[in-house]
Amino acid sequence: MTQLDLAPQTADGRVVFDDLEIGEIAVDLDDQEPEDVIEWALETFGDRIAIVTALQEDGMAVLDMAVRIKPDVRVITVDTGRLPQETYQFIEEVRAHYPKTQWDVLFPEAAEVESMVARRGVNLFQNSVEERMLCCQIRKVRPLVKSLQGLDGWFTGLRRDQWASRAAIKKVELDHDHEGIVKVNALADWEGDEVKAYIEENGVPVHPLYAKGYTSFGCAPCTRAIEPGENERAGRWWWETGAPKECGIHCPIETGSFEHEAEAIF
Ligand code: SF4
Repeated sequence: MTQLDLAPQTADGRVVFDDLEIGEIAVDLDDQEPEDVIEWALETFGDRIAIVTALQEDGMAVLDMAVRIKPDVRVITVDTGRLPQETYQFIEEVRAHYPKTQWDVLFPEAAEVESMVARRGVNLFQNSVEERMLCCQIRKVRPLVKSLQGLDGWFTGLRRDQWASRAAIKKVELDHDHEGIVKVNALADWEGDEVKAYIEENGVPVHPLYAKGYTSFGCAPCTRAIEPGENERAGRWWWETGAPKECGIHCPIETGSFEHEAEAIF
């Protein structure tokens, strides 16, 4: 028996690991292919794990690999209320392409959005980095965090080469920001070209905004196409300088005095 055979079950049916166990499993999985990592996770967690994706190429590659192992794999995405029309169309295309997948399209709490907008306006993200992060917290991070509370693991499309904040991710790690569930970054050691090659070779659906020069996307007002030579995440919140190109779901972000405002809203 190796560490990969470990799957401790708690009394309420949850599958949990401690830091030592998941650290040893991460070592065992580090040189394995993404499909092998995904297979381990699906066999270990079953329906207690879901793919969380904004439908970019990385997440789509993970989804395609997972469907080949578990056609009814769970998929979670967030409708922040500010998505581009292309994303809504693409959600339908992807659901039709993988008809057995189980989808949760999450929405932010209406009362929280209403309170935030009443205080700060609909386009508060233009005012400051802190207000942008507040908007991301309420429209995106909060609904996801609530959803993750019902899971023991989640798949991401994160890669180490995407941005400095992601350089040290493991293929599996305990997510202490989300109650210690297991975060599975099966593509951690892939580069963008490898993802594109997988997408092409396997006929994976591609979000239509890639054809317009976008390389990473979320909400319509906060994403633009990139210029030649720019980092693939350069089109996210492009007007900000010195701020992490993160919404806060993958790395907790301090929003300074807005922490208190967020708590008041919540
Ligand atoms: Fe708000 Fe922009 Fe974040 Fe979307 S990406 S939640 S519009 S700040």
